[in-house]
Amino acid sequence: MKILVLNAGSSSHKSCLFDLGQGTPDGLTPNPIWRAALDWTHQPGFVELTAAREAGESVRRSLPITDQADGISAMITTLVEGPTQVVDSLSEIDAVGHRVVHGGQDYSHSVRVTEAVKAAIRDLIPLAPSHNPANLQGIEAIEAILGDIPQVALFDTAFHARMPEAAATYPGPYAWVEQGIRRYGFHGISHQYVAQRAADLLGRDIASLKILTCHLGNGCSLAAVKGGMSIDTTMGFTPLDGVMMGSRSGSVDPGILIHLMRQEGYSADQLDTMLNKESGLKGLSGLSNDMRVVVEAMDQGHPQATLAVEVFIHRLRREMGAMIASLGGLDVVVFTAGIGENKSLVWQRACEPFEFLGLRLKDGELGRTKDDQDIAAADSRVRVLVIHTQEEWAIAQACVALLQPVA
Ligand code: AMP
Repeated sequence: MKILVLNAGSSSHKSCLFDLGQGTPDGLTPNPIWRAALDWTHQPGFVELTAAREAGESVRRSLPITDQADGISAMITTLVEGPTQVVDSLSEIDAVGHRVVHGGQDYSHSVRVTEAVKAAIRDLIPLAPSHNPANLQGIEAIEAILGDIPQVALFDTAFHARMPEAAATYPGPYAWVEQGIRRYGFHGISHQYVAQRAADLLGRDIASLKILTCHLGNGCSLAAVKGGMSIDTTMGFTPLDGVMMGSRSGSVDPGILIHLMRQEGYSADQLDTMLNKESGLKGLSGLSNDMRVVVEAMDQGHPQATLAVEVFIHRLRREMGAMIASLGGLDVVVFTAGIGENKSLVWQRACEPFEFLGLRLKDGELGRTKDDQDIAAADSRVRVLVIHTQEEWAIAQACVALLQPVA
């Protein structure tokens, strides 16, 4: 079975092809046989197309393409032509799985794409204006290129869609509840994958575990996973809420925004840019949204970089504490995504305050390993796992599960 996965974003797309042979390998995550990406941020009027086979051959081209559908078409062509060819014909592809950012309250599971599902993704555009249109265009582009192929949508909100009302509701006027202004949560595909992977690695039933998952990449969010369900999370109505991120502020006093509007005449668009693109590690350090750059500057004594890292850690610990309170206990902490998978400084500093819970990391140097790892000391009452998030594989698995005939 060959499954194409498409992660269509506002200014870049990523795609990969899994070849699952006669079935899915038990407990193993196969590598995609082909990967490709489109990036419109390099040069106005051009898209940078990169594609690579697992075997090693790759291409990189700058193409005069501005239309997303044309870009996807060029990307898909590298599956059947040139040095990155991995299939003889596109008809060999059995299904396409899409990551869709917003599924609202109605989609708590992955679904086969139908006209009704497309309409729902369209209706949710006001809640995810920079993501859902790209996701929908991705689905429509595949329809145009591959015809009537089964397509599956996985929503980044789905894992959080059954959060208790008290966790999902903002304490504004009740009209907000009626208007759908609530905590939706994001990164759900990743939180769900790493929580299940943690249970599998520990040989435990996820139903018996209280897991705190920390997805720390460019975007950062935490989730409280109890009995396999997300019962609380830090991102909210939008992916701006919660912990500090690469260029996003995370939670700030909403009074600051009112102040800036009244005193400085800020418009909604200016606030949007400030909070999403000019805040977080980038805003405070004045250097970069990349943790590697900021930590390096901190090590050289850069005061703003030091402040940025200290605030990042402080905010992370605070929100970890909040998630642990929601869980009412803690069996496992998982770190994942770019920062979470790599930065031992963050593991150590984030975990320090929770020693009173019996959480203790291994002594000595900790660092990234090729495989997922348990970094807790043998006698720690809480396991601490570093898990490589595999969102694309989770999407491919959901396709297989949805498309397998019911016995
Ligand atoms: P992601 O969104 O998961 O791709 O994560 C991207 C972010 O992870 C980057 O902006 C960096 O801040 C961070 N990152 C990636 N690799 C490393 C690394 N080796 N060490 C520290 N941070 C990293």
